[in-house]
Amino acid sequence: MADKMETIVSLCKRRGFVFPSSEIYGGLANAWDYGPLGVELKNNIKQAWWQRFVHQRDDVVGLDAALLMNPKVWEASGHLANFTDPLVDCKKCKQRFRADHLCPPTQAKPELGRMKTPPPEKPVCPNCGGELTEVRKFNLMLKTFLGPVEDATAVVYFRPETAQAMFVDFKQIQGSTRKRIPFGIAQVGKAFRNEVTPGNFIFRTREFEQMEIEYFIKEGEWEKWFEHWLGEMKGWLKFLGIPEKDIVYREISAEERAHYSKRTIDIDYQFPFGQMELYGLAYRTNYDLTRHAEVSGHDLRYMDPETNEKYIPHVIEPTWGVDRSVLAVLCAAYTEVGEAKQKHVVLKLPRQLAPFKAAVFPLLANKPDLVKLARSVYDDLRKHFPVAWDDRGNIGKRYFSQDEIGTPACITVDFDSLNDNAVTVRDRDTMKQERVKIGELMQYLGNDK
Ligand code: ATP
Repeated sequence: MADKMETIVSLCKRRGFVFPSSEIYGGLANAWDYGPLGVELKNNIKQAWWQRFVHQRDDVVGLDAALLMNPKVWEASGHLANFTDPLVDCKKCKQRFRADHLCPPTQAKPELGRMKTPPPEKPVCPNCGGELTEVRKFNLMLKTFLGPVEDATAVVYFRPETAQAMFVDFKQIQGSTRKRIPFGIAQVGKAFRNEVTPGNFIFRTREFEQMEIEYFIKEGEWEKWFEHWLGEMKGWLKFLGIPEKDIVYREISAEERAHYSKRTIDIDYQFPFGQMELYGLAYRTNYDLTRHAEVSGHDLRYMDPETNEKYIPHVIEPTWGVDRSVLAVLCAAYTEVGEAKQKHVVLKLPRQLAPFKAAVFPLLANKPDLVKLARSVYDDLRKHFPVAWDDRGNIGKRYFSQDEIGTPACITVDFDSLNDNAVTVRDRDTMKQERVKIGELMQYLGNDK
């Protein structure tokens, strides 16, 4: 299984999905760049998410908040005091570990979704068996200075989650949209955490992206909305093409949950390197709004226009990691077909996520008539969705090359095309070929963008 991961990482680099950041300078540990194909895949995921959870619902509105916020936000949310990981070092080999990763997670209590207490019995270094240091608390907030003077008054933090902006902007957004409870605020954006043990490609990085919704509700309805969002998250996973058998819905026990959460489910995926958290769903009570009301001194209560009742709304929070989505989609789509020499990779991406929806080939690159007609097919289709062009090598190799990046359809313009105005369309998954009139191509390929 680890081999599968290596193969995916090398495919990603070779084809320009994802590769190490600033590599000509030796890179930066665990920083990755999304190349031409990766940015398409990632954007397609984000756009599909926005379309599904914002545009197609009338109870969710969007937000794109500033990344650097007033540091009081993090004081109120508890991040400055509690957003910590327990850290241990091996005295012998000097390797560093998260203490809660050294024992079954049920033996440690998290704070702000993180493990808080050290493991009960003294574990040894999993690397060399050496003795470990005492557990130290390590704050994960990434700090910087705003303005020219680097003193304490200029300290700000890169947000460690997108969620808090939805809480601090709640009153502003509710007032301007006149949304009535229940309603949600959605945001897609970068978050930063000074992770102790980043790794596993784009699974755990210090700079990553999240898609989050804070869904504001009446306290008495939390169970209903929790179930609702669980169902929505299941539907999303299905849309991504991630098989149900590879997903584990992990109910987090009361001892393990953050103190403000009354129910949390971690949605794990069987990555090639093990079962790990992909998404999360939490009932955060009215903890965050209450804290922000207390610390800011602003009244963050909602007034029910029907009953005139004033209350601090409760919140259901479904959260999705963008980079972990990309990784899970790649793992689920990665398929090897054929035997031995004929073996090749097919990335069976859902069409909506594929970087290119089609590829166009002139049968021979040195026949101007063929190239001209193929070019006009290519240009027409490109007005509607991203299309690849390839005129190198034989057609078989071009098919394989497109299969490897998940292009659902390959269109070949051949000599017959010059007479019958039709082309050969080859399907990525069935490998079947069909003759289609050029004028009917758009309809044939479907246009779900
Ligand atoms: P973990 O236990 O893996 O550290 P978490 O419980 O701290 O994750 P949350 O705070 O719930 O994560 O963050 C919400 C989502 O953001 C996660 O489900 C995950 O998809 C994503 N995420 C969190 N941390 C990272 C990271 N360092 N790199 C990439 N994605 C991340």
